[in-house]
Amino acid sequence: MTLATNLGFPRIGARRELKDAVEAYWSGGLDAEELETRAAEIRKGNWLLQRDEGLDQVPCGDFSLYDHVLDTAVMLGAVPFRYGWEAETVDLDTYFAMACGRAGDGNGNGAVPAMEMTKWFDTNYHFIVPELEPGQRFRLASTKVVDEFTEARSLGIDARPVLLGPVSFLLLGKSVEDGPHPLSLLDEVLPVYEDVLERLRVAGARRIQMDEPCLGSDLPDEAAGAYRRAYRRLTEAAPELELLVASYFGELRENLDTALALPVAGLHLDVTRGGEDLHRIRGRVPDHLTLSVGVVDGRNVWRTDLAAALDVLEPVVDELGADRVEVAPSCSLLHTPVDLDLEEDLDPELRSWMAFARQKVGEVATLARALDGGREVVEDVLTENARAMEARVASERIHDPRVKERAGSVDEGLLRRNRPYRDRAPLQHAALGLPPLPTTTVGSFPQTAEIRRTRAAHRRGELGDGPYEAFLRRQIEEVVGFQEEAGLDVLVHGEPERSDMVEYFAERLQGFTATTNGWVQSYGSRCVKPPVILGDVRRPEPMSVDLTAYAQSLTDRPVKGMLTGPVTMVQWSFVRDDQPRSETARQVALAIRDEVRDLEAAGLRVIQIDEPAFREGMPLRSADRDAYLRWAVDAFRIASSGVRDDTQIHTHMCYSEFNEILDAIAELDADVISLEASRSRMELLGAFVRFEYPSEVGPGVFDIHSPRIPPVDEMEELILRAASTLPPERLWVNPDCGLKTRTWEEVRPALRNLVEAAERVRRRLG
Ligand code: GLN
Ligand code: ZN
Repeated sequence: MTLATNLGFPRIGARRELKDAVEAYWSGGLDAEELETRAAEIRKGNWLLQRDEGLDQVPCGDFSLYDHVLDTAVMLGAVPFRYGWEAETVDLDTYFAMACGRAGDGNGNGAVPAMEMTKWFDTNYHFIVPELEPGQRFRLASTKVVDEFTEARSLGIDARPVLLGPVSFLLLGKSVEDGPHPLSLLDEVLPVYEDVLERLRVAGARRIQMDEPCLGSDLPDEAAGAYRRAYRRLTEAAPELELLVASYFGELRENLDTALALPVAGLHLDVTRGGEDLHRIRGRVPDHLTLSVGVVDGRNVWRTDLAAALDVLEPVVDELGADRVEVAPSCSLLHTPVDLDLEEDLDPELRSWMAFARQKVGEVATLARALDGGREVVEDVLTENARAMEARVASERIHDPRVKERAGSVDEGLLRRNRPYRDRAPLQHAALGLPPLPTTTVGSFPQTAEIRRTRAAHRRGELGDGPYEAFLRRQIEEVVGFQEEAGLDVLVHGEPERSDMVEYFAERLQGFTATTNGWVQSYGSRCVKPPVILGDVRRPEPMSVDLTAYAQSLTDRPVKGMLTGPVTMVQWSFVRDDQPRSETARQVALAIRDEVRDLEAAGLRVIQIDEPAFREGMPLRSADRDAYLRWAVDAFRIASSGVRDDTQIHTHMCYSEFNEILDAIAELDADVISLEASRSRMELLGAFVRFEYPSEVGPGVFDIHSPRIPPVDEMEELILRAASTLPPERLWVNPDCGLKTRTWEEVRPALRNLVEAAERVRRRLG
């Protein structure tokens, strides 16, 4: 029999119950026991739901109060020394301290910083980076996965425990304070894994899922040996258990041999990310191995073409026999929203094309039944599925011939400004008349409770368009007035109309749609609701011109128009699966190009196109990066190059790791880039110098992630540092990122200090 399985289910709850519970615990509204009760309810709901949807085996241990990598670190007792943990097991407060840090007493006493957080492969989920310190001792410090297995059992559910495997755990970790090389710790973590496996066996588990997503990425040389050693040892230690190694997010490629040689019972492949592995594996699957085939895409919101999936699966069953094949989503469903049935407002046609986690689980079950009993047994479902697929392919909502034609006719001319930066710069400087080291901000100003309240009231229909518009204008007047008074050189309108930089434009572009409850976990209790790109993208009318032009009408200083770039729009949305991402980005780019030109026509002389997601869109495999950078750079250039030479194009990126992508950043051909730099104390600028970065740079001098108001001296020193590395005539002075999360009480003095710091440096440099 072909098993229908799943690698992981969203843990946030269908109505973000986990967020509410965890945040209530943090604020003292719930105690540990109540939090645990709520968490158990979510787990129970998830297990029963998956079973009722027809899965033969459901995962356990995939639940987490914060993050599964943190859970694994805790399981292994890898608690950094700074948390002062000495007990047998890791308590809840130590756990959350690792995730969020300890605040201390307000004077900084007792404050302990959180562990670092970073993106989980190429998803928008963030995990807590394990810290590997010298002198660390690994030992079992949490039996969470065993407890959850037992909990499922008591509900009559025979679940499959999920562990993050030892090799991926170590590869994802970072060595701190000259700590050990991660993989050198393998022999120290394996005994803890052995201990956990033994406990799971005693508890009655039979099959264990070992997630090894690093198998889908470029591996260091020692990794193949580490995989062999790890799984030989674990299999020997637990001969009665069947270990299934799960790889996802990418093809195994050169790691396929390593994976096939592991002495484990099963291997999971993500076949939605290029099905090459499956072809290459044909005829080579060792007899002892079961193949779990991830055909249902766990990274998007579209229904699976079931007939096409069966075309992939049936030959595998023919070759291996039904007992050695499992059907599963491509990866954990953590990255999809929970339940499409909750989308009450969604247009029925759109709904008929979509599937969230619950529906995807149902698809997996249908596919397994079809493999076992023949397509006839699920004929009704297949017929309905095929009908929806056909309707989607043909729908006018998706296909707009005008858009396709325009995107198809993009040529070199659309990718280039008239003149190179060198020749544009003097024209811009003459037109703008800015002082040296011009000061500006990255776009948003504090999103006060009043702004949020008013926007929500307008959204609910309680506040009409007229009064809302008037409210926004008053906000803009305030923000512009403050900037003038503070002495900033290039002003912004402050983005009061935007709750989110992607959502705002998504709501105004044809081809995008929004969900009401399509939340996915971003990190901890933070969830995001990405828009869905369902069809060809077109801009029916200007999106930001009125408010930006209004801001410009209030002042003689240049106002900077503020747009979200095509790569970020695509990266932070669920994208369509019926055309390459590059094509979607090109369509979005054309829409933004029109907006840029309209802003210019409305009198804006400076326009910023934010691309904070530019770097995270990079493929996991270095071999795929050039292709990505090509289309990503082109998309930005399409969006930005339609302006006059004396119109200044800015871009913004909120990180400081530019080494790998500096040449691509230069190819964007923006006139000015602002970036995060204050925390690394301008370290990144060295790379800009070595690379001879051609245009202007605004390295952030004010860390907006902290409530701290940076004093003038400190920013002055940062500017001086920057001016000693890069030519001062190509330097700007700005914060690290937007100010939306800060308060006016912080922003007012901080920006006054920033202006003062720039003035001091100007005087110094004469
Ligand atoms: N313009 C945006 C803002 O200031 C940029 C946000 C970002 O880079 N993430 O809020
Ligand atoms: Zn930013």
